Amino acid sequence: MHYHMPVYRPPSEADSLIFQATLGCSHNRCAFCTMYRSKKFRIRPWDDLKADILEMATGYRNARRIFLADGDALVLETEYMLRILHTLYEKFPSLERVSAYANPSNILEKSEEELQRINAAGLQLLYFGIETGDDELLVKIRKGANSEELIQSGTKAINAGFSLSATVILGLAGKKGSPRHAVETARVCSVINPQYLSALTLIFEGDGRYFFHCMEDEWELMDKIEVLQELRVMVDHFELKDCIFRSNHASNYLPIKATLNQEKSELLREIEDALRHPEALRPEFMRAL
Ligand code: SF4
Repeated sequence: MHYHMPVYRPPSEADSLIFQATLGCSHNRCAFCTMYRSKKFRIRPWDDLKADILEMATGYRNARRIFLADGDALVLETEYMLRILHTLYEKFPSLERVSAYANPSNILEKSEEELQRINAAGLQLLYFGIETGDDELLVKIRKGANSEELIQSGTKAINAGFSLSATVILGLAGKKGSPRHAVETARVCSVINPQYLSALTLIFEGDGRYFFHCMEDEWELMDKIEVLQELRVMVDHFELKDCIFRSNHASNYLPIKATLNQEKSELLREIEDALRHPEALRPEFMRAL
């Protein structure tokens, strides 16, 4: 098995087998993301991918979870994705779940029927970056989608049968844009109502030059208190139903987990407590991507 480095996967896929169906990200322009900067996007040929699958099927036949890397495997043509999924479920008889990252255009470019077929073939979970619901900020960060397209793609995936694990980024708007980022992000998340929602906190790998170039001059980094205040506003504005909300990513100052909106009051109390005791927050040097 040969991995084309670097390889990324969501924290919840730590125990999954990983196959690279694509290399890099077909978008690869988001201001805050350096994951695939070193890679030129390409789709892996079937013979290469199949060789990896057959090799791993000898040693890991009982694998229950598989993650399809790299940055947006849902970009694959539907028939190619179906071939991959059928082969995975044939070669790994205990397989229960296949997941992948997906961006808005991957979803919008497929018909509802194509998405349903892919989901029925066993791609159950999509990791989907909302990042922000603020349209001005979405342009600056070069997300490649506006808030309406985020809503359309997220709801389209859920309606096709997928579970959606969405992410938003705290601190992304900087000091000045924080209130609008919090409220607009809550609005978009509430309409989509993903099954899982995670908050990450902005962190730079390297000098952040590309990010600062995209954000223009007025952007100011938020401190941990301001980030928590932003989280408080966002949580307060969430109108979610049965959504598992987490901020347990290593980039966050405060790890939390709650089902929203059912546990909103408790969650807001937890954030208030943390604001009163900032000394208990994760120190800056322990934050990581
Ligand atoms: S679409 Fe995802 S992987 Fe691609 S650049 Fe944006 S955040 Fe990174």
